[in-house]
Amino acid sequence: MNMDANKNMNRNMNKNMNRNGNKRQAGSAENDVQKGETAGDEPRGDLLREAKGNDDEAKKRPAGGTPAGEARAHAAATRNSPVREAPVIVVIGGGYAGLQTLFALKKELRLKAANKAERDSAADACGGHSGQRERTPTPAPVEGRAAGARLILIDRHASHLRKVLLFRGAVHPEKMQVPFANLARHGFEFLQADVRSIHSAERKLELKRPDGSRETLLYDRLVVATGSVPRTAIEERGGFDLSDPADTDRIRAALGAWRGAAVGAGAGGADAAGQARKAAAPEPEHRSPRSVVVGGGLSGIELAAEWADELLRRRRDSGLAADTPVVTLVNAGERLLPQASAEAGARLERELRAAGVALLHGRRAVRFMDGQVELEGGERLPADLCVWALGLQASPAAASWGLPVDEAGRIVVDASLRIGGWDGCHAVGDCARIVDPATGRIEGMSCREGTSQAKWLAKAIRAELEGRPGPVYRSAPLVLCASLGPNRGFAWTRLHGRDLVLTGSLGLLARRYTWKLVDLLPD
Ligand SMILES: Cc1cc2nc3c(=O)[nH]c(=O)nc-3n(C[C@H](O)[C@H](O)[C@H](O)COP(=O)(O)OP(=O)(O)OC[C@H]3O[C@@H](n4cnc5c(N)ncnc54)[C@H](O)[C@@H]3O)c2cc1C
Repeated sequence: MNMDANKNMNRNMNKNMNRNGNKRQAGSAENDVQKGETAGDEPRGDLLREAKGNDDEAKKRPAGGTPAGEARAHAAATRNSPVREAPVIVVIGGGYAGLQTLFALKKELRLKAANKAERDSAADACGGHSGQRERTPTPAPVEGRAAGARLILIDRHASHLRKVLLFRGAVHPEKMQVPFANLARHGFEFLQADVRSIHSAERKLELKRPDGSRETLLYDRLVVATGSVPRTAIEERGGFDLSDPADTDRIRAALGAWRGAAVGAGAGGADAAGQARKAAAPEPEHRSPRSVVVGGGLSGIELAAEWADELLRRRRDSGLAADTPVVTLVNAGERLLPQASAEAGARLERELRAAGVALLHGRRAVRFMDGQVELEGGERLPADLCVWALGLQASPAAASWGLPVDEAGRIVVDASLRIGGWDGCHAVGDCARIVDPATGRIEGMSCREGTSQAKWLAKAIRAELEGRPGPVYRSAPLVLCASLGPNRGFAWTRLHGRDLVLTGSLGLLARRYTWKLVDLLPD
């Protein structure tokens, strides 16, 4: 998000704050507070952000009023008002699950996207000029619409990261970040900030803005979608991670800079370990870097295949044989795709080998050092490049806020994705421990699951706002897709008790379809 868009957003928010501030001082608000009335489940429609210790703002408050007190007073004052204000729904985290939740809420609550005239008028009101408007449409307020709500996204970053494309960015330049400013055209508001704490009794968030200033934000409903971070083995393990664009730039640079011919041949052999050693320690004329990917999950699989495709292309361009494995995938499990049938897993492995990837199952890599990947038990693989793709773990944010988490740090929620004991708070996506009550299965960490959870959550929030019981969560059918280089893919699901597998260009088509489904912020 650029500075202009940020400034316009701030002006919009301040405008709302002032407008609501005036209302707060009207009517019988103070009496209601003195009587100890609370906001309960009333839509707040009232947003208060303030710099901490800002004396001017403090002076504007009714005597003795805390921000939460003001909010309660305001809610109490407007409770019987014939004009119902829109509830404020705040989503923390603009990953796939957070964005899917915003869009699902918009649909559930029947919010309209801001049209061009509304965007322009909002920009005019904020002093925008036509040149700016074209590039960064100012967010249009959505409050005041029929069955409306005010939807606000908070993220510590200015852009959404398309994590599912990181593997491609590690081999070819790829646009992986989409500015949250693009949300404005959908009628959502965005605030770049790190959430420091949640005060559910007051329905208030403490925020730290990128410039270091502290602010608070009030909400009626809160969705925590803080996602996950890559799992790491040990601190000083060498090699590259695959967690953000800086990593992919480094991997691509190392790959691009590779000029050396590998020295020293490995023993090789007929078994899997021998094949892997052969891939990692190729013939002297081999000009490819000896490449190792650690981690047999989807991201490791996709990276290994994309990488192998590129190395084989270079070999062909250099007139070298392109029928040898060029990347080794080290997998701690005994096979790939443990969630699917053994046949489906074996099929994927055949496809991967055909794509130039050697598989080494049942091995744990410990570190990459001095041209070798050290495996648990002391075995070593010669390697020039090594990327770790060890899977994901819940973001530590939830635990730091005191939310109830399981032993893996995921937020414990009920069947309506509510956080027990935290009034008005829900969790969704990788950060949440969501159990399908029908099967007892704990949901994994994937975009597909986050997408289906978001749709249920939007229904649950709508039901709550309307005073109805929420729906009970049900998992979507399991579908696994992977691209195997730029021209091939693999997709698996189970239909009527039978495996359904697509490979080759059909598999890739299925893969592309799933990318499209989760990619809600087109460029
Ligand atoms: C390399 C890689 C490849 C993958 N490939 C696939 C795939 O092929 N298919 C698939 O289904 N899944 C894949 N995944 C998993 C998928 O990306 C995740 O399941 C998905 O991103 C989860 O979305 P989320 O919204 O729950 O969390 P995230 O995407 O992790 O987003 C969380 C957001 O919360 C923000 N945030 C966190 N803490 C705070 C805070 N305190 N204040 C403000 N903001 C905060 C973060 O900045 C981030 O934007 C892959 C993951 C990786 C890393």
